[in-house]
Amino acid sequence: MALKLFNTLTRSVEEFTPLDPSGKGVGMYCCGPTVYDVAHIGNFRTFVFADLVRRYLEFKGFAVRHVMNITDVEDKIIKRVRESGAPLREYTGQYEAAFLEDLQVLGCLRPHQMPRATEHIGEIIALIEKLIARGFAYKAADGSVYFSIEKYRGSGRQYGQLVKLNFDELRPGERVSNDEYAKESLADFALWKARLPEDGDVFWPSPWGEGRPGWHIECSAMSMKILGPSFDLHIGGEDLIFPHHEDEIAQSEGAGLQPKGERFVKYWLHGAHLMVEGKKMSKSLGNFFTLRDLLAKGFTGREIRYLLLTAHYRETFNFTLEGLQSARVSLMRIDECLTKLRELAGSIGAQQDAPLLSEFSTALDDDLNVSGAWGAIFDWVRDTNRRLADNSMDAAGAAAGLATWEKLDAVFGVGAPSEVEVPAEINDLLEARQAARKAKDFKKADTIRDELKAKGWIIEDTPKGARVKKA
Ligand code: AMP
Ligand code: ZN
Repeated sequence: MALKLFNTLTRSVEEFTPLDPSGKGVGMYCCGPTVYDVAHIGNFRTFVFADLVRRYLEFKGFAVRHVMNITDVEDKIIKRVRESGAPLREYTGQYEAAFLEDLQVLGCLRPHQMPRATEHIGEIIALIEKLIARGFAYKAADGSVYFSIEKYRGSGRQYGQLVKLNFDELRPGERVSNDEYAKESLADFALWKARLPEDGDVFWPSPWGEGRPGWHIECSAMSMKILGPSFDLHIGGEDLIFPHHEDEIAQSEGAGLQPKGERFVKYWLHGAHLMVEGKKMSKSLGNFFTLRDLLAKGFTGREIRYLLLTAHYRETFNFTLEGLQSARVSLMRIDECLTKLRELAGSIGAQQDAPLLSEFSTALDDDLNVSGAWGAIFDWVRDTNRRLADNSMDAAGAAAGLATWEKLDAVFGVGAPSEVEVPAEINDLLEARQAARKAKDFKKADTIRDELKAKGWIIEDTPKGARVKKA
């Protein structure tokens, strides 16, 4: 079956067909983090969503090229750099490293390319020059370069492809120099910002004098450089629809590099926000958790990833610690089932459970219906537990179940339960207890059982003999 996704551009669920004539290659760009601080798990909801899109496309057999930029120069960063007194690269480097670490803890595959804005100043300048040459950008009296919405619209192009805009409010020539602004402040936006005293050492030379790029042009320049002027998928959180993505379209299509009839991006996907008590989780509201906050509370990356993957990407989702607790319980149910399957199977089988795979992919084909996909997995867990309990599952069936799980988990990436290392001392005690039982010294066997319990290990008697697990 074909994959269907909701395209913000057409406001409808569409069948996904890549631009690649062979139907195999997919170019995917996700707006990456602004490295001015440690990212919160709201940000990571969007990155886990992008990771799911990539993994599911790979599951479907596509060859994905996943690009995620690092925004390492923009308004917020400059403000923080000024306050900290550290050089730009040193300041952003620490948050970039933390971001990569967190991405890994959350089980996200590393994007194939992660371009930094500060390493693409040449491409950014060239793109602005092109826009000036085509009449869509101009240098203002303050030395900055702006994108002219009037000129762009006057050429028959549409500004407002992702959102409806009220142009009656637009006063030609009015400008906005901040990277972030509301729809109501619709105005010409900055492509290049002239150097100000408060920018400190953060500036580059350009044909328009010293300055730095605006945030929006960074993504246009880096995405088109790596994926070409026209590519398949562009992803971000819903707060990026306006102005960031609308401006990216205007800049990229304004430069006119696309083949005739092609757009800058074929499918725009936007993830809904992670909320806390009805409000967007954000730095400015102070209602955020970083991954590190949650790890310090004893939760694991896979529990947080699981929780983020239980909600449909277009639905806002309320984050709570209770939700994380239930995520833990759900994962334990999967883990226990897998452990029993491993014991019975011995090895992973070549056969797979075709009905489970088909139910799983039918759900995800439907605009990434994760609830349906998890539903199929938990039905399978229940059925497997029943068959294990009534001994109607053989080793081949268990091996097939494990093989299928591996395939599904390549998409959800919550991983197999980590094999717990049993210390030698505990193993010795277990063996001593077995020996005591063999010698019918049950008193001694019970004493050893209690000793193990006091050390945090419980004995489980299985058909394959006794083993210990963490209490
Ligand atoms: P930033 O580092 O601020 O540029 O944001 C990185 C990504 O996180 C962007 O795609 C944002 O849309 C996204 N984002 C920010 N806050 C949230 C949230 N509460 N829930 C989901 N995504 C978010
Ligand atoms: Zn971007």
